Amino acid sequence: MLKPRTPKLFILLGLFAALIYGAYHYGQTWAEQNLFETGRSQLELYSSSLQNTIDKYRYLPYLLSQNQDIINLLSGKQKQPDLQEKINQYLMQANKKTAASLLYVMNTEGLTLATSNWDVPDNLVGRSFQFRPYFQEAIKGKEGSFFAIGTTTKKPGYYLSHPVWFNSKLIGVVAVKISLENLQNEWVMSRDNVLVSDKNGVISLSSNPDWKYTTLAPLSKETRQQILEVKQYLGVSLETIGVFKKLAVGEKKSVLMIKNESDESATNYFFQTKDLAALGWKIHYLTNLRQVTQRARLSTMAAAALIIVLLLAFLLQRERRSKLQTLQQARDLLEHRVEERTLELQLAQEELAQSGKLAALGQMSSVVAHELNQPLTAMNTFVASSKLLIKKGQWQTVEENVTILSELIQRMNSITRQLKTFSGRETEGHEKVSLQKALNYALDLFSIRIQSENVKVKLECLLDEYFVWGDRIKVEQLLVNLIGNALDAMKKQREKHIIISASCFKSDSRPENKTALINIKDSGPGIAEEDIPKLFEPFFTTKTVGEGLGLGLSIAFGIVHELGGEISASTLAEGGAVFSVELPILTN
Ligand code: ADP
Repeated sequence: MLKPRTPKLFILLGLFAALIYGAYHYGQTWAEQNLFETGRSQLELYSSSLQNTIDKYRYLPYLLSQNQDIINLLSGKQKQPDLQEKINQYLMQANKKTAASLLYVMNTEGLTLATSNWDVPDNLVGRSFQFRPYFQEAIKGKEGSFFAIGTTTKKPGYYLSHPVWFNSKLIGVVAVKISLENLQNEWVMSRDNVLVSDKNGVISLSSNPDWKYTTLAPLSKETRQQILEVKQYLGVSLETIGVFKKLAVGEKKSVLMIKNESDESATNYFFQTKDLAALGWKIHYLTNLRQVTQRARLSTMAAAALIIVLLLAFLLQRERRSKLQTLQQARDLLEHRVEERTLELQLAQEELAQSGKLAALGQMSSVVAHELNQPLTAMNTFVASSKLLIKKGQWQTVEENVTILSELIQRMNSITRQLKTFSGRETEGHEKVSLQKALNYALDLFSIRIQSENVKVKLECLLDEYFVWGDRIKVEQLLVNLIGNALDAMKKQREKHIIISASCFKSDSRPENKTALINIKDSGPGIAEEDIPKLFEPFFTTKTVGEGLGLGLSIAFGIVHELGGEISASTLAEGGAVFSVELPILTN
C-alpha cells in the first residue's frame, strides 16, 4: 500500500522538475536575448568602422578627376612622356599621403596611362581594366565602386572610380584602390566572428581567414560565369561555408552551421546580418550557440543549488519542529501526570481530613459521653435512693443527697462550660482586663481545694499594673486551667506548693510594645519529655476517665494566641512543671 506521504513526494518532485525546466528555459531565452543584443551592437560597431574606412577615400577620385595634368594627359594636349612621368610622381606622392593602396588613371578604353606604383616592375601601366565593373560604371559617367582581388597585385581591395571630363566630354577614368587588410586584421584580433558578403553571397572580408572567399550559399552557374568575367575572385574556388538552418522565422533564430574542415566537427552560430546598401555589401555577426547552452546550464545549476538549499532548510525546519513537538508532548504528559497526582493528593488530603475530623469527633463524643455518664449514673442512684428516703421520711439524708446531686450538676455544668469555651461560642466583647483580678478570681475559685489539700501558694509578684486587651472570662479561664492542672498534678505529692511569678519586658522587635511573662511553677511530678509536644493538642490527657477531658491546655493555648501571646511548658530541674505565658500588655 502507498503511504499517504507518497503523493506529496510526487508533487514535490514534479515541482522541482518544473522549476529546473523553467530555469533552463529562462536561462536559454535570457542568453539568446542577451547575445542577440550584443550581436546587434557589435554589428553596428563593425559596419560603421568599415564604412568610415571606405568613406575616407570617397572624395579622392573626384579630386584626381579635377587635376589639370591628368586632364591634359587624357585629352592629349601635351607632350605625353613628360606629363605621364609628372603624373606618376604626383600619384605616388598622393598615394603615400592618403595611405591608399593604388591611384591610377585610365583612358576611355580602360588602359592605364599613369599609376602610383609606376616604380615597381609589375606596375599597372599599359594594363586594361575595361572588364572591371567600377570602370564600366565610370565610363557611363557615374561614380563606381567594386571589391575584387587585384589582377596584377593579387591583393584584395575596394575600388572607387570617377569619370574625367573635358569640355563636357568624358575623356578617361581615375580609380583608387583601398586596402581593407588592416581593418580585417583588427577583426581577427578581436576574436569576434565578423563576415562581409557581397551581392552574390561571397565572403569578401572575414575575421576568420578560413572563411574568406567562401560563399553563404552555393553559387549558380551563371553567377560563377559572371564573377569570372569581371575577374573578381581570381583563382579562388568559392566553396560554400556551411549550412543554414533556419530554426525559426526571424532574425534571432537564424542559425548557421559551419563544418570544421580539419576534424569534420560542426559548430552552430547565431547569424545576424546588417545591410550595407551604400557599399553593396552585407555584414554578418556570428555567435557560437555553445554560449547559449552554457548560460542555460549555469542558470539550471543555480536553480538546482537553490532548490537543494531550500530543501535542506525545509528538512531542518521540519526536524526542529518535530523535535519541539516531541518535547511539547513530553511536557504535556508530565503536566498531565502532575495534575493527576495533585488531584489524587488533594483527594487523599480531603479524605484524611475527613477521617481525622470523624476520628476527633468520635474521640470527643466518647470522652464527653464518659465524663457525663459517671455523674448521670451517680445522679440516678441518688435520685432513686432519695425517693425511698422521702417515703421513709428520712429528710436529713435526703438533704445530703440533694447537696451531692447539686455538686454533680455543677460538675456536669463545668464540663459543658469547658466545651462551650472550646467551641469559642462564649466569646464576649473585648475589654481592658486586669491580670491581677483574673488571678485573684482563679485563686478564689480553688480556695477551698487549696485549703483542704494543704497547698502553699506563693505570689512572687504584683500583677496590679498588668492589663491585657481581651475577653475577661477567657483570661480567667486560662489561669483557672493552669492552676487547676497544677493542683491535679500535686494530688499525690507530699509537699504541695505553687509559685506564681511575673516580669515585664520590652519586645525586641517592637520596643513600644510591652510583654508580661507569667510563670506558674508547681511541685508535681513534672511532664514526661515525650508528652511535651502533644501537651496542647485537644483530648491529650494522662488522667483517668472522669478526671480530665484533655481540653484544658488546648483551650489555654487558643486563648493565649487570641491575646497575641505564647505559651510553653517544661519540667524544672528540681522537679515540678512550669508553664510560661507571654502576653502583650497595655501600656496605659
Ligand atoms: P486534663 O487536665 O483534662 O488532662 P489538660 O489539657 O489540662 O487536660 O492537660 C493535659 C495533660 O497535661 C494532663 O493530662 C497532664 O498529663 C499534663 N499536665 C498538665 N498540667 C500539668 C502539670 N502542672 N504537671 C504535670 N502534668 C501536667
